[in-house]
Amino acid sequence: WVFPHTKEGPAVSEHYNLSNVLGKGAFGIVYEAEHRATGDKRACKCIAKAKLVSQEDVEDVQREVQVLQMVGQHENVAELLGVYEDQRNVYLVLELCKGGELFDRIVSKGTFSEKMAAEYFRTMVLVVNHLHQLGVMHRDIKPENFLLSLPDDRAVLKLADFGLSSYFMPSQKFTQVVGSAYYVAPEVLRRSYGHEADMWSLGVILYILLSGLPPFWGDTEEAIFKMVAKSEVDLTSAPWPNVSPAAKECVRSLLNRDPSRRPTAQQILHCSWLQQQHLPDKPID
Ligand code: ADP
Ligand code: MG
Repeated sequence: WVFPHTKEGPAVSEHYNLSNVLGKGAFGIVYEAEHRATGDKRACKCIAKAKLVSQEDVEDVQREVQVLQMVGQHENVAELLGVYEDQRNVYLVLELCKGGELFDRIVSKGTFSEKMAAEYFRTMVLVVNHLHQLGVMHRDIKPENFLLSLPDDRAVLKLADFGLSSYFMPSQKFTQVVGSAYYVAPEVLRRSYGHEADMWSLGVILYILLSGLPPFWGDTEEAIFKMVAKSEVDLTSAPWPNVSPAAKECVRSLLNRDPSRRPTAQQILHCSWLQQQHLPDKPID
């Protein structure tokens, strides 16, 4: 048992009725779930035990739960509402994010206005700042893992998927290469990194929000890694001439290859771009 206390507990089906698939990830499938007692709609992440091959995989799931429990209720985190387990799966019942992935909103919109980009970005930085202050790094910051609470304009962003998250000590160095190619920091590829790697990933997301394009790309993972490790960030081609200097400076500072010179979450909240009261409200072209 991944969680010994679930052994004697109720089956997930006693409390929840699982229906349509909301998303898929590396370890499992996320379903919509109706709470039988209240009729509330929630999400249920089913992690197949067959895919937990190593002790490390098991520990990742345990940490995912531990971290979510520690974070507790936060406006911008998809809250953990229950844990179940049977012979086949571990089930994490989560607050339902009805608006889907930020990724899909980016794809459908192309680019955002600076105002919208700043709104999303500020929220992302706030939640990452909260995690870092708790001594947790996420390690898989990407637009697939930021979900929208609602399908309309009232939606707030919620960070999800703490499956790769880890506790860290301020100067502790990690060596395990994890994350997704487009968003991975260069020091992760060099196998010596800390929580600053999350800030790089936020820089990649901001680049995409403002330009509609990833800063580092390629046909293979290897090709992307090569760009992450070496290539200059392009902030001059279209549409960058139409982006304000303050926004570009914010992107540039986060995509600093030297993690010790990259701003912390706390520092970037005070960057001149996020301080501005009136950002352009029309899409960047
Ligand atoms: P994995 O660790 O396998 O990547 P995630 O936790 O990222 O799993 O979940 C996979 C996908 O399922 C997400 O990208 C999202 O589309 C969907 N999903 C996850 N949690 C929720 C939630 N609370 N509400 C709605 N959809 C969710
Ligand atoms: Mg995920």
